Amino acid sequence: MASLNDIAKQLAGYDPQALSVPMAQQFIAELVHRMPPWPSHSIPVDQAFERILASDVTSPIDVPGHNNSAMDGFAFCAADQTSDDAQLMHCVGHVLAGQAWHGRVERGQCIRITTGAVMPSGLDTVIPVELTQVEGTRVQWSRQMVQAGDNRRLAGEDIAKGAVALRRGERLGPAQMGLLASLGITEVAVQRQPRVAYFSTGDEILSLGQAPREGAIYDSNRYTVRGMLQRLGCEVVDLGVIPDEPVALEACFLNAAREADVIITSGGVSMGEADHTKAMMRRLGDVAFWRIAMRPGRPMALGTLGQSLLFGLPGNPVAVMVTFIAFVRPALLQRMGVTSVQPLMIRAKSQEALRKKPGRTEYQRGCLSRDAQQQLWVKTTGQQGSGVLSSMVQADGLIVLHHDQGDVQPGEEVDVLLLETCV
Ligand code: AMP
Ligand code: MG
Repeated sequence: MASLNDIAKQLAGYDPQALSVPMAQQFIAELVHRMPPWPSHSIPVDQAFERILASDVTSPIDVPGHNNSAMDGFAFCAADQTSDDAQLMHCVGHVLAGQAWHGRVERGQCIRITTGAVMPSGLDTVIPVELTQVEGTRVQWSRQMVQAGDNRRLAGEDIAKGAVALRRGERLGPAQMGLLASLGITEVAVQRQPRVAYFSTGDEILSLGQAPREGAIYDSNRYTVRGMLQRLGCEVVDLGVIPDEPVALEACFLNAAREADVIITSGGVSMGEADHTKAMMRRLGDVAFWRIAMRPGRPMALGTLGQSLLFGLPGNPVAVMVTFIAFVRPALLQRMGVTSVQPLMIRAKSQEALRKKPGRTEYQRGCLSRDAQQQLWVKTTGQQGSGVLSSMVQADGLIVLHHDQGDVQPGEEVDVLLLETCV
């Protein structure tokens, strides 16, 4: 495993006490890149929903498998049409989806065909039934209504046999599942799901079910972290709340490193904090303690403990979610072999002036709306304190004010990260 020092030496301008968000992301990406890859395994397609492909899937067949009709109508050979606008052909047969036509079709003859049915050989065009006048076997239409090749799907038009149908690193969503099925594929190679252990630290933190006491608060971080991990498709191991106490912390860290590929803690990494979490991380692993130029967030620990990747997130509930989105999510996706790890951002106009100091990245909670001209606008949820979890509930997205960006004027466009796509 790479040491943090090796990576630090390679990054020009690396300063753990004043790290920009992009540099912290680059550092983490480099660390994950140097970790040994995980072996993949094959599973039945029926169980593969939301999993990540470990290798390209090439198509064993042409899709569609045959030239077929895209409409209900009459199939004919375009070259058999006369030069007049009024066309007349005689219908000599009927072919339904799932059937093939083996009879002969002479010049000037057509075949009634339904959507999806195999095109009889020699025929290349379909005139939809609603554009025809039919009397007995006489079928008439206007030549200008149809071009040669219309309403016919060619074999292999969607995917040709041997072509790459899905790429490694792609998540198997509903469309990908349907595509695999359409190819008749029953098994796929997928990446392993990371096992992630997480716990909260702090003497003031209560687990659900414990009696409230003065000065204590209920643990929300384990619930936001678990939710975000499950959305990513990780296996989760909840290790509870650990008090600021060396023996309990050591046992918990060692257990987590044995159990999990990734360890996430929250709390206890602030500057000058008198607790034991930092000391224990430093003693047991290769860990850097960062002050990141961001809001909310700022203090964070990153490193390795045994074979496990370790994230020591701040304690404040909004800071936990934001640092997860900015750092943990891309790292987990990268570890899972996903090719695009950065969430999609959209542009919206700010309804209000936003104060912002250049030299740090800010994530403000915002709500989106559209005006009568369909212009997208964003407005902050108000209170932006890093402990105000209700702001995350109200928000549609995070307004990302980038490192070098300054104040924002009303009506100015800003980047917004849609929460729906990243938590
Ligand atoms: P710390 O970094 O440990 O000083 O925590 C910063 C703030 O976040 C303090 O106000 C903590 O009480 C709060 N906090 C820490 N952990 C949690 C948690 N698991 N759930 C809710 N709040 C927390
Ligand atoms: Mg604490």
